Amino acid sequence: MKLIIANWKAYVTSAKEARTLADAVKKVKIKKDLKVVLCPPFVFLGAMGKKSAALSLGAQDMFWKEGGPYTGEVTAEMLFGVGVAYVLIGHSERRHHLGETDEMVNAKAKAALAGRLKPVVCVGEKTRDDEKSIPRAVAEQTRKAFEGIQKNRVEDVIVAYEPVWAIGTGIADTPNDALSAAIYIRKVIAEMYDQKTAMKVKVLYGGSVDVRNAAAFVNQNGIDGVLVGRASTDKREFAGILEGI
Ligand code: PEP
Repeated sequence: MKLIIANWKAYVTSAKEARTLADAVKKVKIKKDLKVVLCPPFVFLGAMGKKSAALSLGAQDMFWKEGGPYTGEVTAEMLFGVGVAYVLIGHSERRHHLGETDEMVNAKAKAALAGRLKPVVCVGEKTRDDEKSIPRAVAEQTRKAFEGIQKNRVEDVIVAYEPVWAIGTGIADTPNDALSAAIYIRKVIAEMYDQKTAMKVKVLYGGSVDVRNAAAFVNQNGIDGVLVGRASTDKREFAGILEGI
């Protein structure tokens, strides 16, 4: 099964807009073996209406503690309670604007698993100055994200390879280079656990995915889907992405 995750970020600013986008997705006949995950801002999670086998709900972030005196935070239990199944962890915008560290990402991934959510851990290099820049940044972020996660839970973690230079820039990676990164990510996981375990981890590509390039990433063997930002907030374009795969 391939995953198409829509990260609406803070582009969507009203419940009405969220509902309109969700309704547009529900009108698309989602192909067999595809699952769409919509990640609205927290406050619109309740406005998304019915889910289905092909359509799940995701959150854009969560806190690593179970609950208590943590003003403003949203826990895994709260998300699970409103029907969330997936949660983005360590998106580069959070790492950059909010100072999220690899340690926080690791704590959140573990808390998500404990809370019955599937963490979608985002990793990616800031710049691609030489051929070693993918391995260095991606290996470090991947290793730290999986630290202390039990082998039997590894397959519940999804990794989104999102090169920072490709996010929101209109300059996507090539499917070939994204595949190299996905292979590399699985190699790092195999070193921590074993090959069989690593092969069970879904690795997605994200960064300027749009209606013209989505199919090439999704149909690439070894890439298990895409994480779509801006293009997922345009109902015609996102429907076009789903129909074109
Ligand atoms: C993202 O935010 O995860 C993303 C991939 O954004 P965009 O598609 O807008 O580059």
